[in-house]
Amino acid sequence: MSDRLHILITGETGKGRSFLLSRRKLKTSCSILAGLFLSCTVLGYNSFHGFNANTDLTARIATLTDQVNVLTTEIDASTSTNDTLSSQLSDLALQSNQQKETFLLEKQVLLNTAVSELEERSGMIERIMCNIGVEVKDISPPDSSNSGGPYIAPQKDFSTELLYRSNKYLDAIHSVPLGRPIPGGISSRFGHRSDPVNGEKGFHSGIDIRGRSGDTILATAEGVVSKAFWNGGYGKFIEIDHGNGYTTKFAHMRSMTVKRGDKVTRGQKIGTVGNTGRSTGSHLHYEICLHGAPINPSNFMRADRLNNAAGITQLSAQKSKQLKASKLIIAQNKQDVAIPEK
Ligand SMILES: [Zn+2]
Repeated sequence: MSDRLHILITGETGKGRSFLLSRRKLKTSCSILAGLFLSCTVLGYNSFHGFNANTDLTARIATLTDQVNVLTTEIDASTSTNDTLSSQLSDLALQSNQQKETFLLEKQVLLNTAVSELEERSGMIERIMCNIGVEVKDISPPDSSNSGGPYIAPQKDFSTELLYRSNKYLDAIHSVPLGRPIPGGISSRFGHRSDPVNGEKGFHSGIDIRGRSGDTILATAEGVVSKAFWNGGYGKFIEIDHGNGYTTKFAHMRSMTVKRGDKVTRGQKIGTVGNTGRSTGSHLHYEICLHGAPINPSNFMRADRLNNAAGITQLSAQKSKQLKASKLIIAQNKQDVAIPEK
């Protein structure tokens, strides 16, 4: 077989051309063409898939970019909220500090006011006691028996001392008969006098106060009724023990509304004015005794008018409340100071 190939190409006119090709060259050319075709096919395929992959990637990048943008916006919003909250927190802390300072200031003002009122009222009590001739420190001798408790050093603080002083006055004033048992005029004073029944010289151990039969008689200090009975010339008679050596006696009563052993408070009704016993008319015989000896009730009865009439009888109750409040305030301000209970 020939190593060459004749390729004949003819046209419509009958003319033709022939090519002479060696088989080897043709085989080589065909191999090269096949290789080129295969390469182009592979490259085309890869390019097609690469393009598709690139499109997907671009889309994903776009989506991720959108997500990043959204997240960035949210982070910005969160940062802004955080800044606002931080600012509000700072404002609140500032307000809290201001309120704390205001509270402390108000507490101090309250304390100062309480101390000032205590001082003023202590002064008032001192003046009253001085006017009626009662020395407070002699009224309430401290009784150290049947007592105990932890030792607490005396406080040098002014307000605490004032508190103790006021308490002492209060104790004293509770047992001191102050004011008038009935409002009438004086018909017979304390001391030496001519007896109203027989006209002879005698000693009047109390004060006679005019009153209409049935007028209310009030206790002049808190205490316990130690006597309530028909007492001969005194008629219907009541004696009240106020403690600290003080007793008061009420005679010629029409009726008695308390009995022996009853506890009474200042201003409480104990009976009515009458004309029982050795008496020339409706009146109240009122007597104050200190350690059993009668003393002149005049100054004690005037105590009401030394300040204002409502003052002294209501003072004890008011002061008790105020002292409790003051104690609380002082205890809060001086937590390291223990105030011993009385
Ligand atoms: Zn009398």
